[in-house]
Formats: sequence, structure tokens, C-alpha cells
Amino acid sequence: MTDTIAPTRPAAPEAKPWITAIAPYVPGRATADNGRPVVKLSSNENPLGTPQGARTAFRDAADELERYPDASAAALRDALAAHYGIEAERIIYGTGSDEVLHLAAGTFAGVGDEIIHVRYGFAVYDIATRRVGAVPVVVQDDDYATDIDAILAAVTERTKVVFLANPNNPTGTYTSRTEIARLHAGLPRDVLLVVDQAYTEYLTPEDDDGALELARTQPNVLVTRTFSKIFGLAAERVGWGYGAPALIAAMHRIRAPFSFGIGAQRAAIAALADTAFVRRSFEHNLVWRDWFVGEIAQLGNAGLRTVPSKANFVLVLFEGALSAEAAYHALMAAGYAVRWLPGQGLPHGLRITIGREEEMRAVVDVLRAEVRNAG
Ligand code: PMP
Repeated sequence: MTDTIAPTRPAAPEAKPWITAIAPYVPGRATADNGRPVVKLSSNENPLGTPQGARTAFRDAADELERYPDASAAALRDALAAHYGIEAERIIYGTGSDEVLHLAAGTFAGVGDEIIHVRYGFAVYDIATRRVGAVPVVVQDDDYATDIDAILAAVTERTKVVFLANPNNPTGTYTSRTEIARLHAGLPRDVLLVVDQAYTEYLTPEDDDGALELARTQPNVLVTRTFSKIFGLAAERVGWGYGAPALIAAMHRIRAPFSFGIGAQRAAIAALADTAFVRRSFEHNLVWRDWFVGEIAQLGNAGLRTVPSKANFVLVLFEGALSAEAAYHALMAAGYAVRWLPGQGLPHGLRITIGREEEMRAVVDVLRAEVRNAG
């Protein structure tokens, strides 16, 4: 039958142009160029590991591997509802919050629509936008922080979604409750505001940005959360979102039926229950982030500075003789992988996850030595 096919047709399936326009996601590195394992401070994971109860629950799930997991993730949604005082039926979930972000873009935007995110934003926003044929509208920052006025000024008739991470990645910057409320108030009601709270557990209670409350009361706010960071479960890919019933019902239509496995569901429930582990992780982060920022401040006359961070990582800017690239390679050679982000417009920055005490001390030692060599 092949002779009936017109000769002008392409020789192979062609990816849609908006798909080929996507710059692939670059994961944080765990090895050096020669394959040698290094300390991974490149993906904002929890340096204290995983709650013991979550490990046990995951192992126990190994006895039930022949069955599909609960497609409705009912036990996990109930646990989340009880823990946060929210309604289980308003919870969506996915293979990491990455999938929930894709569901948001895919449900509410399509070819020709616009999705807004900030210049130094999470890389998945661009991918999720382009994947559905929508146009990413990138707004300027305010000295690396999110500029609400710039977002509002970028809204057009075609805007369908705004992605905003709080704290933001890779900058670590924080948008206050008042500013989030002002953004929401300034958006048309048919624009979905996605407040990505992947790092929200690292905020103090007084820094609550109010987005969960907005998601409870407003028809156009979705909050996303993850078990990959403070809960220490990055390997199992558990993310979730919370919003108005109509939003959640629409998103469920395109969700993969079995987003994550039984081990992931059981481990996440156990991780949620271990409040002591979460507390310890929060405190560790606070202490060592402050320490690290203080140490970098002492290298200020060599052109190093940090962007104010409320997350479990710090963006260090290199504005003197020592370049971010040179520092990145020196750290890698010493056995520490951090994130250098030239592809995200930050050739002069390194995003460094807050690791264990000895790791942070070693990173500072390397940077201090490099500053001396460069000067
Ligand atoms: N949002 C932000 C801001 C992130 O930094 C990350 C992880 N790097 C995610 C979402 C996705 O996390 P996960 O898919 O592991 O839930």
C-alpha cells in the first residue's frame, strides 16, 4: 500500500514545532565528568535523608507489587487532608509536582494561549507551556526577586496561566502574602494562578504566603506541593495540588491513571506523619543556610554575594575575578556538584543546596581558596 502515499510526505513522523522548540530539562549532576560520584548539592534534596517510617512503609509495599496502586490515592489524600486541614476531594496528585504543573498547563492552556513566568523561574514552566503549544511570556525580575507589577503588566487577552514559585527556584527569593494577594486581585478571574510551594516547608510560620487559603476560597488559584524536598522522598516522585473542585475535576481528566506506585503512596503517608524529621530538617536548613550566607558575605570584596533565600538552597553570584564557571569546576574537582545555570540566564551564578555541616564547610573552603587564587 505504500505506493498510495504521496511522495511529498515526510519520511518519518515529525515532532510538532512547539515540541522541538523545547530546551530539554537538565537534571542536577551526581557524578563528575569521569563518572566519579560526588556530593550532590545540585537538586535541593534533603541532606538528612528520608524519615525511617517512610523507608519501612516502602519496603513493606514490596509484598503487594502484582496489583495496580490505588488510582485515586485515597489514603494519601485523606492523610494530606487531615494534616493540612483541607478537603481530600480538592486534591490532585501526580508523578512529582512536575506532573501537576503539566496538568495545569495542559488543562487550561493550548495552542496560541499565553503562560506567564518570571525570567529566573523553574525550568519546567517553560517546558509545560511549550508542550501544549502555548507561548511562554517571560517577565523581568526585580534584582532576582519576583516582580508582581511586571507579571500584571504582562497579562493579555490570551493569558491563561501564571506560574509563580514561592520561594522561587533558582533564586530562593520569597514573595510576601500581601504581594501574592495583590497579584491575585489584579488577575482576570479566568486566569489560573499556580503558586508552586515546593519549598514552602522551609518558611517560618509567619512567612505563610496565604496561597493555600486563596486556593480554598478562590476559583482560580492552584497550590502545588511536593514530597521531594523536606520530606526526603525525591526518588518516589510524589507531588500534589489543591484548588477549587472545578479545577481539580478538569485536571483529573488528563492525569495518568496510576501516577505513582504503591511504595510511593505508603512512604508519603509515613513521611507526612514524621513531624520530628520535618522539624529537624527545617532547623538544619535554617542554621546552615544562615552560616553559609555569612561565610559568603566575608568574600564580598572578591565580588561574591548571595541572593536572599528562604529555601533550602542559595544562589551565589560571582561578580569579581572568580567566575561562577571556574568555581563550579573547582567544586566539582573537589567532589561537590552544585548547579551552574548558564542555560537559564545565570552564567554568573551557582545554586548551592544546603547540605550537611561538613559539606557546607568544605564548599566554603573551596570557594575561599579559589577566591585567593583568582585574586
Ligand atoms: N517546583 C519547583 C520550584 C522545584 O524546584 C521543583 C523541583 N526541582 C519542582 C517544582 C518539582 O519537584 P517534584 O517534581 O520533585 O515534585
